[in-house]
Amino acid sequence: MRNHSCWFQSIEDPKYKYDIGEILYRCPNTGSLLEVEHNVKELKKDSPEYWKNLFDSRYRKQSWPYGSGVWGKKEWVVPFVEDKNIVSMYEGGTNLFWADKYGKQIGVEDLWIKMCGNSHTGSFKDLGMTVLVSAVKQIISNGTEIRALACASTGDTSAALSAYCAAAGLKSIVFLPRNKVSVAQLVQPLANGASVISLDTDFDGCMKIVQEVCKKQQIYLANSINSLRIEGQKTISIELCQQFDWAIPDWVIIPGGNLGNISALGKGFLMLKDMGLISKLPRLVCAQSQNANPLYQSYLNNFETFEPVLAKTTLANAIQIGDPVSVNKAIKILKEFDGIVEQASEEELASASARVDLTGTFNCPHTGVAITAFEKLVNNKVIKKTDKVVVISTAHGLKFVDFKINYHLEKLSEISNKFSNHPIEVEASTDKVMQILDSKVL
Ligand SMILES: *Cc1c(COP(=O)(O)O)cnc(C)c1O
Repeated sequence: MRNHSCWFQSIEDPKYKYDIGEILYRCPNTGSLLEVEHNVKELKKDSPEYWKNLFDSRYRKQSWPYGSGVWGKKEWVVPFVEDKNIVSMYEGGTNLFWADKYGKQIGVEDLWIKMCGNSHTGSFKDLGMTVLVSAVKQIISNGTEIRALACASTGDTSAALSAYCAAAGLKSIVFLPRNKVSVAQLVQPLANGASVISLDTDFDGCMKIVQEVCKKQQIYLANSINSLRIEGQKTISIELCQQFDWAIPDWVIIPGGNLGNISALGKGFLMLKDMGLISKLPRLVCAQSQNANPLYQSYLNNFETFEPVLAKTTLANAIQIGDPVSVNKAIKILKEFDGIVEQASEEELASASARVDLTGTFNCPHTGVAITAFEKLVNNKVIKKTDKVVVISTAHGLKFVDFKINYHLEKLSEISNKFSNHPIEVEASTDKVMQILDSKVL
C-alpha cells in the first residue's frame, strides 16, 4: 500500500503547512488562502500509464464510490477520507457535448461544451461539495464536534450543500441574498431541509456574515474559500482529458464569479502535467459578466492591481460577485496558463445563450457569458479555427427558467429579441392551424 497523503499549505509561503484534519480556511500565519498539497513524490511511484488505467477502469462504473468522477480520482483528491465517510451521489461523468452544429456557425468545429450542470443538484458545485461534506464526516469521526455546515450562496452552492448534508445526516444553514436567486435555487435547499436565512443584502454581504458566524459555534464554512472544495472541482480538468482519451484541448473557457472554479481548473491541469499524464497545458479563459467584472478590470492592467467592485444586477446571477474570495489563486493560475479574461454584457450573454440553445442545448446564463468570450476571441483571431476548444457550462438551464422564458417572451428590458421564439396562439380549429403553419412555420 502506498502512503498517499496531503496537507494544507499557504499559497503565499509554502513553508506554512498544516494537518489536513484541522479546521482551517486561511493560513493562520500569513492570512492568505490555503491550498491542498499532495505528496506528489509518493504518487509518482506509479507511472502515468498506471494512473490513466486506474482512472479509466473506474470511470462511470457502478462500484460505489469509485464510479463517481470525483472519487474515481480519490488518491489525487483527498486520500485521507475513509470510504465509510464518503458522501457521494455519483458526481462528474458529465456529458462532453460535441457542439459541432454551433461550432460550424462560428467556424470552429472542434468545439465542445462540458455540461457540468447535468449533475445531482444541477451545477458543478456538486464536485466540490461531495469532497467537503465527506471531509467533515471524517473530521467528526476523528472526534471533533461540528454542529452544522454553512455557506453564503448565489444559489448553487446552497443547493449542493443542503443535498449532501441531507444525505449525510448533517445540519446545513444557507445564507441567501433576498430576492436575488431563482425560484429553483431557493426551493432546492428548502426541500433538502436546510435552514435558509434570507438576508437583505447581496452575495458579498452574505459572505461577510457567514465568515463571522463560522468563527463561532462550531459551524463549518462550506464556501469555496475552503480549499477542500477546490480539490473536488479540480477533477473537471482530469475528467476532460480522460474524455478526450488523454488529449489536451487548446482552450478551456469558464465563467468566473468567486473565482474558485477557474483556480480549480488550473490546479487540475497542473497536477496532470506534473504527474506526466499530459505534456502541455491548455490556455485558460475566465469570462465575467460586465456588471460584475473586477477580474476583467485587473486583467486590463496586467493584474498589477486588483480592486473589488460593487456588483450590479446581472442575468448571470451566480457570478454577481464584486469581491471574489479566490482572486489571488485565480490570478496566479491565469498567469501560469497565459490566461485571458473576457467579459459579456447582458445583451451579449442572453443572445449567446439563446443562440447555442438553437443547436440543441438548454444552457444557463453563465454559460452564455463563457460563449460570448469564446465568440469574441474567435472574432479577434486569438482562438484559431483549427483549435480544440472546451466551454465549461456550469449549471443546468432548468435552474434558470425565469431568465429563459423572459427572454423568449421578450420581457427582458434592453435585450434584443434576435433569437427569441414565442408560442403562437391559435384558435383550436384545424383550418386555422393549417393557415398559420403555411404562413409562419413551413
Ligand atoms: C458558482 C457558479 C459559478 C462561478 O464559480 P466561481 O467558483 O464562484 O467562480 C459560475 N456558474 C455557476 C452556475 C455557478 O453556480
